[in-house]
Amino acid sequence: MGGTLSDEAAVDQGTVLGIDIGGTKMAAAIVGADGRILTEHRIPTPPGDAEQVFAALAELIGRVEGDVRPVAVGIGSAGPLDQRHGLVSPVNITGWRNFPLVDRVRELVGDVPVELGVDGHCFALGEFWTGAGRNADAMLGIVVSTGVGAGIVVDGRPLLGQSGNAAHLGHVVVDLDGEACACGSYGCVETYASGPRMVARAQRRGWRTSESVDAAVLSADAAAGDEIAVAVFDDGAQALAAGIVATAVTVDLTSVVIGGGVAKAGPVLFDPVQRWVKRLAQLPFVADLSVEPAQLANAGLLGAARLAWDTLA
Ligand SMILES: [Zn+2]
Repeated sequence: MGGTLSDEAAVDQGTVLGIDIGGTKMAAAIVGADGRILTEHRIPTPPGDAEQVFAALAELIGRVEGDVRPVAVGIGSAGPLDQRHGLVSPVNITGWRNFPLVDRVRELVGDVPVELGVDGHCFALGEFWTGAGRNADAMLGIVVSTGVGAGIVVDGRPLLGQSGNAAHLGHVVVDLDGEACACGSYGCVETYASGPRMVARAQRRGWRTSESVDAAVLSADAAAGDEIAVAVFDDGAQALAAGIVATAVTVDLTSVVIGGGVAKAGPVLFDPVQRWVKRLAQLPFVADLSVEPAQLANAGLLGAARLAWDTLA
């Protein structure tokens, strides 16, 4: 009865809309059930008040959707956010403070599920779905950039925590006598491993003190063998490894995937991270923990789409 129609429905599950919101860019894509991106656009995040920023996002969504009616929407946003109430307050989008993003997007897309997640979770979920973490039983995804964000995927599901903010790896304390952190604590992973903090640490040791430089310059110098740059990357790697191993023994991880701007440094970062993880992960159940570079250029966007699909599962 109605066999043909049901079969067609099973084959054509429709598409979802994934949205990735960051301080420098906003991206949106129409994504199939297999993780295939059908349409994708991105724009620089505009300055301005809440409505100006939202107007740019609304236009982006309209452009990506065209005539397509997505069956669900997933939004990955820079934090902090209030997942329960659908509010976002991205540190680098000053116009949005407790902005009701979920409700406003729902007004645009009609009566379909709209799910919100922190960008770190979406990154992890994207790499789990179609990237370096494919089929991992328990995976930690880390974004090393101007900050250190992360997400955890266990049994195919993101581990969100009661407020949606779980896996703030950048703020795991790894140095009991460490420097003050932007979060108000001290000795956090981020004080050693974020791009700006690594640059500041190198400059305090006499590296390119009078120049305006960034983590890309630091990683190029480390690759060329500059002693200070190598030492600072090693410190950052040690802090990351301490945070990784703390998470691994807590959650019983099998796999770690690292992406983000600083991770583009390649072996300069990954060699010491792998060495330190090997040194610190001594308990048998974490001894085989794998640490790999991210494979996707748009893991956050794909992870947001996966959030959307998961609302229908
Ligand atoms: Zn902190």
